[in-house]
Amino acid sequence: MEHKCMRCGKNLKSDEIALYRKLIWREATEYLCIECLAGDLSSTPERLSQLIDYFRTKQKCCLFV
Ligand SMILES: [Zn+2]
Repeated sequence: MEHKCMRCGKNLKSDEIALYRKLIWREATEYLCIECLAGDLSSTPERLSQLIDYFRTKQKCCLFV
């Protein structure tokens, strides 16, 4: 199944979907790409991808496969 960013239409990676679920809303069915999400969170895509690594390696979060 393919998902696109609900704002800019970019194809989403599974990590971007997982991050959105983790940070915004677990039950979300529409998502933002890492760039749009970074804008909303006053963060940067670089910091968010570090966060993805953190969730995956340190927390072994089940959303990140
Ligand atoms: Zn986007």
